[in-house]
Amino acid sequence: MNRIRVLERSVAERIAAGEVVERPASVVKELLENSLDAGARQISVEIEGAGLRLIRVADDGRGIMGDEVSLAFERFSTSKISSVEDLDTIRSYGFRGEALASIAAVARVTMVTRTVNAPAATRARLTGGTVEEVHLHGAPPGTMLEVRDLFFTTPARLKFMKSHAREQSLAADVVQRAAMASPAVAFRLTVDGREVAHWPQASSDERVADILAAGHGEDLIPASGAIPGGSMKAWLSRPERARPNRTGQYVFVNGRPIQSAVVRRAVEQGYAQLLTVGRFPVFAIFLDVYPGSIDVNVHPRKLEIRFKDESALFGAVTRHTRAALLGSSLVRGVAEAYPARSGVAPPPAGVPLEAALALALEVREGLGVYGPAAAGRRLPSLRPIGQVLRTYILAEGPDRLYLIDQHAAHERVLYERLIAGYRRGGVTSQTLAVPITVDLSPAQAALLAGSHDQLAQLGFQVESFGARTALLRALPAAVPGASLSDLVQRALAALAGDGDESGRDPLERLAIATACHTAIRAGDPLDAAASAALLADLEATDDPFTCFHGRPTMIAVSRDQMERWFLRS
Ligand code: ADP
Ligand code: MG
Repeated sequence: MNRIRVLERSVAERIAAGEVVERPASVVKELLENSLDAGARQISVEIEGAGLRLIRVADDGRGIMGDEVSLAFERFSTSKISSVEDLDTIRSYGFRGEALASIAAVARVTMVTRTVNAPAATRARLTGGTVEEVHLHGAPPGTMLEVRDLFFTTPARLKFMKSHAREQSLAADVVQRAAMASPAVAFRLTVDGREVAHWPQASSDERVADILAAGHGEDLIPASGAIPGGSMKAWLSRPERARPNRTGQYVFVNGRPIQSAVVRRAVEQGYAQLLTVGRFPVFAIFLDVYPGSIDVNVHPRKLEIRFKDESALFGAVTRHTRAALLGSSLVRGVAEAYPARSGVAPPPAGVPLEAALALALEVREGLGVYGPAAAGRRLPSLRPIGQVLRTYILAEGPDRLYLIDQHAAHERVLYERLIAGYRRGGVTSQTLAVPITVDLSPAQAALLAGSHDQLAQLGFQVESFGARTALLRALPAAVPGASLSDLVQRALAALAGDGDESGRDPLERLAIATACHTAIRAGDPLDAAASAALLADLEATDDPFTCFHGRPTMIAVSRDQMERWFLRS
């Protein structure tokens, strides 16, 4: 075990400076990190009065030797690093030697600590940073740190606290993140005398499921793979569990809970098209990287880190997330949207089938974005039964009845063909026997002048013809030759990104606009041959289950579900 010592001034000066103790949650975080650094297997956290009255963290870690206890409360005293070089390979949570000193300065602190070999524990009491007493005490090995009356020395600070409920939940969130990062450690959280959480020692799968899927009985979708300088493992929640904010997102790097906009956005990008704007996926992601590829010393509370190669990291995380989502199973049935109660089947009395189906649609199940086809997530072969309400295709698959939205399905087919052609290096065009004349506004004409290349990449040949007119000579072969008159205007608007906040690139926007505008619409009649052709095309897509707006293309009802409806089982 390394001895605690005060860092040399030159080292201390290289450490990101700033306020360590901002609120009760920051105290909880520092104390938990110390317990984890001390190799604890069991940690208990007690909070009273939102942590302002009391925070008590007790662990069974290696403890502090009696003659070092006072030293531990000095600024820049640490047993974890001794030189600047150590910062590059840091694996411990702590390294600044500041936490105990900062906490003790603004509260009444009691520490009871004992190493395994010590005959007795040492108890130290400090008020506002001054050591009041240190004496021997009977206690088992480990460390207990009690922080009372936080900020009593700096009452002005209290004014910056949020509501008790908010401070309390911030503190609890810290415990939850620590618990997720360290599944091999048992955690207990007690708030105002009531035990609110107990996580026994577990595997990471169990711990993550326990926290992330709490109360949902949900199967999380695992994702993993290589990233620059290391590897990642993530647990992804299904798109319908998305939240209006990012509270369900957990990011860890080398076991350290961090905030990382890059990593969050990379995962969110993996869900692209599965979620509507303003909804955020729930997930936990663990990056394990060579310490040299990150810099942890950029934030005083070590909440953020810097990655050396952000764009490569972003790409890798997005790819693995996408591949995992694409590889998971998909069509949400009415049964899942409408969980059975005590054996007898939904829909409950009075809920018509249409309502149940509508509910299933709302669930926005289905996963997809164009990307590598993943094994096992293809649509089974479907037998079309007919068109319903001039909007849906009814079809039968193995043991299921499918209702497919003809417009959404066709959009998906067209979009994937365009993107696939573009990726192959060129979308095949069909030349129009008679070019179509298109009137343009001056702005559109200017836009067209600069967009010929991009349009050509997706198979459009549009020529300027006079100041305010264009000629559409050829269009992508995949696209049906209908409603061509506004197609050029729509294509130009998409390239310009009018009203688009999705961050998609112009060619993807062009592909979407083209598919959306030319796809079969709700209300268009489809005969048996056309329905069958559309289903066959849909089966061949990488993601038959969602359109690129994130809406499902289909829902399914299983035989089991039907049997329950008819009280056959
Ligand atoms: P840091 O964690 O950055 O080293 P701290 O001020 O948090 O600085 O702690 C100072 C030192 O006190 C640590 O380096 C460690 O040696 C010791 N220490 C603090 N908490 C514990 C604990 N729960 N168990 C064992 N040692 C501890
Ligand atoms: Mg510390």
